[in-house]
This record gives sequence, structure tokens and C-alpha cells, in this order.
Amino acid sequence: MIPELEKSTVRIREPDRVKEIISSLRDGGASKLQVITDFDMTLTRFANNGKRSPTCHNIIHDSKLVSEECRIKLKDLLNTYYPIEIDPSRSIEEKLPLMIEWWTKVHELLVGQRIQKSKLAEIVKESEAQLRDGYRVLFDKLHKCNVPVFIFSAGVGDILEEIIRQVGIYHQNVTVVSNFMDFDENGVLKGFKGEIIHIYNKREGALRNTEHFQQLMGHSNIVLLGDSLGDLSMADGVQNQENILKIGFLNDKVDQLLDKYLASYDIVLLSDETLDVVNGILQHILNPGQ
Ligand code: C5P
Ligand code: MG
Repeated sequence: MIPELEKSTVRIREPDRVKEIISSLRDGGASKLQVITDFDMTLTRFANNGKRSPTCHNIIHDSKLVSEECRIKLKDLLNTYYPIEIDPSRSIEEKLPLMIEWWTKVHELLVGQRIQKSKLAEIVKESEAQLRDGYRVLFDKLHKCNVPVFIFSAGVGDILEEIIRQVGIYHQNVTVVSNFMDFDENGVLKGFKGEIIHIYNKREGALRNTEHFQQLMGHSNIVLLGDSLGDLSMADGVQNQENILKIGFLNDKVDQLLDKYLASYDIVLLSDETLDVVNGILQHILNPGQ
């Protein structure tokens, strides 16, 4: 029924269960559906021809808005903390304080750079930000079918919004929750708004957005897209869940992490740089006549 599920990148632990969920999502149709998705390395590519694609943070690191000295410090932090983020041998509890430390240090360094709001569009334009192939089909389809999309990112909201605005997919059915920059009256970065969202506290972030999800009361069916085990709790703010399909992109440390991903994501995509499978499933759910 969904040819994309035959791709060699697809792994499923319980195919019958997945079939059942997809069938329930199809029965519910567009009016009951919402999509909750991570951004970096889920909607954006992990790599392109072997070269890592930038995250929202990386776009700032690599831009002319930070000094060479600061860039080195940011790279050092990335080299220290990213291996911890994806370390299969450490528990999430163990990683938590270290992730807070990482985000806090990065935010402090960025504030020290007196970044100007007016320059953000330009650095995104000059960056190598790259959404996964099929992003336009995905966003246009969800817009056309009035399916709410909640992008929930531990990246930098201002950069994220600029990326999706520049490619014309920031439709009115899309809501972004992320770490947003706070600027002073001269448009200079003075901090970040609200609580830090890092890779392993998305549950708390999701619960803070209960009000948003209450407005979507009828949308009790969810397709969740993520690339980190921390993304699995992104839908925890939805109280009336009926059916949820969790699709996980496994990009890094594939061999060591596969079992963990298979145990928690319904569908795991191994080093798949496209949105083909997501689009195939949504096509099936949203076009019940076909
Ligand atoms: O959108 P998402 O929640 O995936 O954003 C978090 C991503 O940003 C993680 O993949 C993390 O590795 C990355 N990150 C980064 N630089 C930082 C902090 C996080 O590239 N300073
Ligand atoms: Mg991610």
C-alpha cells in the first residue's frame, strides 16, 4: 500500500502494529491529524555527500557574526558535548545536566558577540542549511489539508524561522517552539527568551505548550518525527492522544543505537536523507480515496 516502506533504509520492529496505526490514522483522516516534528537533523539533512549539514546553531557558529576566537570556543564546546549527546552508553539522566551546561555556555558566548537581529536573514541565505528532499511536498500537502504542524526544536528559533520562511514553507498551519533570541531596543542580542529547550527536556517544553494543544482538541492522531531519543516526548502535551506514529531518523552511531531506536520509534530510517517515507505515509493517510 505504501511503496516507500519498502526502501532499504526502513527498519520496523513490529510491522503489524505499524500497519494498524497507519490504518487508524487513515480512518481519522486530515481533520483528526497533527504533525509534531523536531527540526535539526529531522527536517534538515544530517549530511550531504559525506559532509555534515549545519544545525541552526552551526549556522551562527560558521557565520561572520561571531569572532574567530568565539568560533573556536563554540567548536570546542561542540566537540566536547555532541559526543555526550549521542553516547549510547550514558543514560539520559546522566546527560541532562551536561546538556544544560552546553546550551548555557553557547548562549552566553553568543550574547557576548552582540549579534544583530537585522543580520540573521543574510547569514541564513549565505549558509548551507538544507532541508531534506521532499520538504516542499510535505509542507504544501499538510497546508492544503489543514493539518497543524508543530515544529519543536532545541535549536535557535530565529534561524529556524528564517530557513523555512526563505524557502516559502512557513505556512499558517505551522507553529514553531524553540529557543528564541531576545534583542534590546537596538536590535542587539541580549539573551534568550524563556526556559532553555535542550535535546533532553522536550517533555517539559511540551507540557508548557498544553494550551496550544488544547486548541487542537480534535486532532487526536499524531505523526511524530524526530532524530534523537529526546524527541520521543515531544507529543507529551497532547492530552487526548488516540493514535501516534513515531518515525525516527537514525543518522549517527547507527549500529550502536539501532536497538534503542527500534524499541522506541515505530519506524526507524537509517541514514535516509529524504522525507520520502514520511511523504508516502502522509499521502496514504490524507488520500483515502486512492
Ligand atoms: O531541532 P533540534 O531539537 O534537533 O536541535 C538540536 C540540535 O542542535 C541537536 O542535534 C544538537 O546536536 C544541535 N546543537 C548544535 N550546537 C549547539 C547545541 C545543539 O549543533 N550548540
Ligand atoms: Mg534533531
